[in-house]
Amino acid sequence: MILYYIVIIRKTINHSIRGDKIYIKFLGGAAEVGRSAILVNDELLLDYGIKLTDPPSFPLNGLRPKSVIISHGHLDHCGLVPNLMDLKPETFSTFMTYSLSILLAKDTLKIAENKGHAIPYDNEEIHEFERSARTVDYGKEFRTNGYSACLYDAGHIPGSASVYIEKDNQSLFYTGDINTNRTELLEGADTDYPESDILLVESTYFKSEHTPGKFLEEKFIESIRQTLDMGGKAIVPVFGVGRTQEIMLILHKHGIDAHVDGMGVDVFNLIKRSPGCVRDFDRLKAVFANSNIVKPRKRREFIREPSVIVTSAGMLNGGPVLYYLSQVYDDPRSKIHLTGYQAVDTNGRKALESGYVEIDGSITRLKCGLELYDFSAHCGDSQLRDVVRKFCDNGTQTVLPVHGDNTEEFARWISEEFGVRSVAPANSETIYI
Ligand SMILES: [Zn+2]
Repeated sequence: MILYYIVIIRKTINHSIRGDKIYIKFLGGAAEVGRSAILVNDELLLDYGIKLTDPPSFPLNGLRPKSVIISHGHLDHCGLVPNLMDLKPETFSTFMTYSLSILLAKDTLKIAENKGHAIPYDNEEIHEFERSARTVDYGKEFRTNGYSACLYDAGHIPGSASVYIEKDNQSLFYTGDINTNRTELLEGADTDYPESDILLVESTYFKSEHTPGKFLEEKFIESIRQTLDMGGKAIVPVFGVGRTQEIMLILHKHGIDAHVDGMGVDVFNLIKRSPGCVRDFDRLKAVFANSNIVKPRKRREFIREPSVIVTSAGMLNGGPVLYYLSQVYDDPRSKIHLTGYQAVDTNGRKALESGYVEIDGSITRLKCGLELYDFSAHCGDSQLRDVVRKFCDNGTQTVLPVHGDNTEEFARWISEEFGVRSVAPANSETIYI
């Protein structure tokens, strides 16, 4: 057994004196959710995302990776990758993540233009990403700049992957965002994990258990039915990637017809090109075929009658949902059914905390109903601990919790429970192993 040790360096130092030990720089997404960027040995980058603050924030700079592996197509993991294209790195992801990264990058540029935000890439660099990025299937080993690597289904959104890398007899497993639970849309993560010396584990829901899926689903459906029975409109704000498709499947299962609007439709069109990335593509296809896909100019027609409208954006921060809000905010029979986490400073979080939302620049009091249903795509607390247990039982010696607000406590629990070295890195730290 190789003996591992951890040295935490608060400032950047000359790494060459450290020989061939792995060292990991955390440039973003360490003890926070957003702008994930993890640089291994100054040469292989795991994720390069944006934090959706207003204006958006980016990882710390100064990196020149030779290889980039993207875990999944959420902006906080893939949103800044086109910025690296002038370095011509070898870039890898699943085909679905590749497709989502392009869709999201184009959308990000459009939004940035409208809001006057600066995004450090342009259409030319998105095109370069489109041209040069390589796609790999789950479970297929590939090589890049002296590393062997493999992607494992992370069960989080279509195409999401955990990343295994190995070089000089040292191995590292990065969970990315992971969900080991089966959902209507996805099978759940592949938990047939490889042995790995180092584990980088996400921590989003450490110390927070999810409401059991069946109970949550029943409450959600009951509330939608009540809204319709009262003659109201049920507005269901959703994230475009994964959540739209999951909610459409749930509604259809309970015999509720819905209208669908926004980015979730574009994402469904991408899934058509990657049908193996969901549990049952034929079922999803049938659900979308039976639903009303709303064209922007037809929105007015669909909002007249009692109806269910599944629409982006999930945190009420833009997109067609703002049109629907403008139509229902003062109608006590109607209700907004939020379907996921509402980040600090978003319109959705403000609505929950104050009862007011911003629509077209004016702050408006909601007279319609507002409820939150936690349809999470991440492991809850007990599943997260199970993931770590599985690795430690299999010989992992170093565990670094990232991507959460409570990573230090998670690291303490891991050290005490399994007797392994566990440290919660901070952004800008370099950890030697
Ligand atoms: Zn994610």
